[in-house]
Amino acid sequence: MVKISIKDLTFSYQSNKILDDLNVIVDDAEILSLVGPNGSGKTTLIKCIDRILKPKGSILLEGQDVQSMKQQEIARRLGYVPQSSSTPLATTVFDTVLMGRRPHISWRVSDADLDKVADTLELLNLQELAMRDFGQLSGGQKQKVLIARALAQEPAVLLLDEPTSNLDMKHQLDVMETISSLVKEKGISAVMAIHDLNLAARFSDTLVMLKKGVVYAAGAPNDLLSEKNISEVYGVEALVMRSLDKPCIVPLRSLNGAAAG
Ligand code: ADP
Repeated sequence: MVKISIKDLTFSYQSNKILDDLNVIVDDAEILSLVGPNGSGKTTLIKCIDRILKPKGSILLEGQDVQSMKQQEIARRLGYVPQSSSTPLATTVFDTVLMGRRPHISWRVSDADLDKVADTLELLNLQELAMRDFGQLSGGQKQKVLIARALAQEPAVLLLDEPTSNLDMKHQLDVMETISSLVKEKGISAVMAIHDLNLAARFSDTLVMLKKGVVYAAGAPNDLLSEKNISEVYGVEALVMRSLDKPCIVPLRSLNGAAAG
């Protein structure tokens, strides 16, 4: 079933067109990754879906137009996970995750909300960090707490902006495995902007490759990540090999004059 349907989406900052007539479908329980060079419009698209920005065209979430939904309804159904580095929170891990319950809380925090937070911390194996200060955690721990906060909203879709940037190999895998098991076990869909093509190839069901604000190509990682596509979208000569039946990209050199954006 279709979870999100984006039709003819166009967005401009002042007169500067950033996204041009995008059409994207996100299915139930899939990980869809937005890839493309810096400035190609990945973050802008995520912000349009979360209605932080107001584009032209339509975005249907489970058949309902996001533009006509109340803010609280959006907050219940879309869980936005920002980059951990952009989120200085002076509070404990427990309270950070409790903030995710806000769209559900009527006038005071209920036992059910506290239980939900405790369950979410346990699900992501964060219970031992519950009383720690968010600001004192490592990058990987912060990213998982921000995922827990979004998950406490009980969303239909997780929107993630570069969830693995600034993380070492182990924490990158930890975060991606967490997202992958949530998608499988809870039927949530995940839409993420991600730079690392090898991680995207390994964990995504679908890739959408953006180039200068248009969809250059979309499909399964095996079909999409060809040497030709990487050269045309990134301006990089790369070797594409197979490993564990997934494409594995080795960037070789930057192609002069073909730099994308
Ligand atoms: P990506 O996430 O793929 O790196 P972005 O969505 O951040 O790309 O940016 C797409 C384009 O929009 C870039 O050219 C960027 O300069 C421009 N842009 C981003 N934010 C703003 C803003 N607040 N005002 C004007 N232009 C912006």
